[in-house]
Amino acid sequence: MNIHEYQAKQVLKSFGAPVAEGVAITSVDQAEAAARQLPGPLYVVKSQIHAGGRGKGKFKELPADAKGGVRLAFSIEDVVKNAREMLGNTLVTAQTGPAGKQVNRLYIEDGADIDRELYCSLLVDRSTGRVSFVVSTEGGMDIEAVAHDTPEKIVTIDIDPEAGVTTANVAEINTAYGLTGAAAKDGETLFPILYKAFVDKDMSMLEVNPLIVMKDGHLRVLDAKVSFDGNALFRHEDMKALRDETEEDAKEIEASEWDLAYVALDGNIGCMVNGAGLAMATMDIIKLYGAEPANFCDVGGGASKEKVAAAFKIITADPAVKGILVNIFGGIMRCDVIAEGVVAAVKEVGLKVPLVVRLEGTNVVEGKRILNESGLAITAADDLDDAAQKIVAAVG
Ligand code: GDP
Ligand code: MG
Repeated sequence: MNIHEYQAKQVLKSFGAPVAEGVAITSVDQAEAAARQLPGPLYVVKSQIHAGGRGKGKFKELPADAKGGVRLAFSIEDVVKNAREMLGNTLVTAQTGPAGKQVNRLYIEDGADIDRELYCSLLVDRSTGRVSFVVSTEGGMDIEAVAHDTPEKIVTIDIDPEAGVTTANVAEINTAYGLTGAAAKDGETLFPILYKAFVDKDMSMLEVNPLIVMKDGHLRVLDAKVSFDGNALFRHEDMKALRDETEEDAKEIEASEWDLAYVALDGNIGCMVNGAGLAMATMDIIKLYGAEPANFCDVGGGASKEKVAAAFKIITADPAVKGILVNIFGGIMRCDVIAEGVVAAVKEVGLKVPLVVRLEGTNVVEGKRILNESGLAITAADDLDDAAQKIVAAVG
């Protein structure tokens, strides 16, 4: 689960991290009141969407030379003017995809005088099984480009879970940034705070880009992006309350209500599978035969007929889906239940696109019988290879 920048900053502030004063607003009227609460004379008007790269983003509705989704403002009138231009419009950034995201909320913040922009993130490093700090002096910009062009400018520091962030770790980070004086002193408190927030709240990613050194020599979290580990959310009701469903794919929300793993993609073949490994293999083989998956829906093991039907309906509801591939290896999941679910869903919502079904495993004979006797226009496939070729041919 992702949250907005302003929420991430509130969370980090509650742990003691230095963030600017700011007010989140949803209307132009609120923008003026928000700016009045801040000291000025420099303000920042920041689009709140679940995507980065906002500063360099472009609003679809505005001329190409209009400013991006993070803007400096130099008076209260300027804040209001920018808020009017931005609210309700669609921001397209490198991370939103071409459709962009509607900006329904702005964060009006007290502006900082920046000396340096640094990059700092924390993530779970699966190879070491530890939380790592990823730090770079090249903050504020596209970290993927830094990683690609100048990987030596990215330093990774693993944290021993027993010891936490040690004095030696802080020294390493401070050295990597070249921090001295007040900024280095701030680092001594800030880096352990970021680590504590990450661990206490079961984050899967915390990215501060940029972490800034201000002209007065102190550190500040200027931007913050947080993702939580979905499997641990049950023990963080306060974080769960920060969820903004308007930022999420409607079908992914519906799928999560059925406890289905659904992921929307960009192609035109809908995939119903069981198990993450089979999902990956199915997508790979679709790509191998020259097509692209529109989504995949993992019904998992032991799903009911109703759950299978819900999954099928979620897949067919996507107008981009020009064909469906059901690829099931029945282990705990039974092929007859899959067949019943598919038939029930098609009876309810109809079938407007080609459907290829490959069933194997537990109760496969019964499953195939149910599909054959249903009278539905289903193309049966013998194995994964055959199934992928048939669905790719069917969608053209
Ligand atoms: P992002 O583009 O979505 O990553 O949004 P950021 O919050 O990182 O802001 C983008 C850029 O705007 C930063 O890298 C800064 O250069 C600039 N910026 C943001 N806040 C301030 C501020 O308070 N003062 C100044 N001078 N620049 C800012
Ligand atoms: Mg940023």
